[in-house]
Amino acid sequence: TARVGVLALQGDFREHAAVLTSLGADVSLIRRPSELTGIDGLVLPGGESSVMDKLARSFDLAGPLREAISAGLPVYGTCAGLILLADRILDGIAGQQSLGGLDVSVRRNAFGSQLDSFETDLPIPILGDPPVHAVFIRAPAVEAAGPAVTPLASLPDGRMVAVEQGNLLGTSFHPEVTGDTRFHAYFLDKVERSR
Ligand code: GLN
Repeated sequence: TARVGVLALQGDFREHAAVLTSLGADVSLIRRPSELTGIDGLVLPGGESSVMDKLARSFDLAGPLREAISAGLPVYGTCAGLILLADRILDGIAGQQSLGGLDVSVRRNAFGSQLDSFETDLPIPILGDPPVHAVFIRAPAVEAAGPAVTPLASLPDGRMVAVEQGNLLGTSFHPEVTGDTRFHAYFLDKVERSR
């Protein structure tokens, strides 16, 4: 059984934990560095990336998380979690840091006030049919990506909203709130393959 941690400083970590548990993972909530020991994968939830950044730094988790990411731990970030994984944040709050690892530039709150939150059906070739019903909540978008990044889904305007790079997976939207478990199952496959 894959042991998967969910960063539980803030945000919708309970929803991720429930989906991963339903898929058979052995889930633990991560709030301190020692809890990273022994996990095979990690999920960074949605929420507010600037708050998670501050909490991660004040709980001395940011350094150990960076080390785990560069050591190859499979990590899946949704929304704020994708922002945490980005090497470059556009429109971050003053002093906001990320953990990094994904060679992307991510814009926070990329969809303006009128489209702050919206839902759309996204074709995602690696997941097959039907398209994924994607829920965007004050969501970020990936505006630029380096050559090692594979775009998994883009909006009609070309902005990327799901990306993969080696051990890292990120989505602008929130599969954990829709009942569609395909993204989490895809991530658990990555975790299993890397064990
Ligand atoms: N706007 C949030 C941020 O900047 C992300 C929103 C979300 O995770 N639903 O972190």
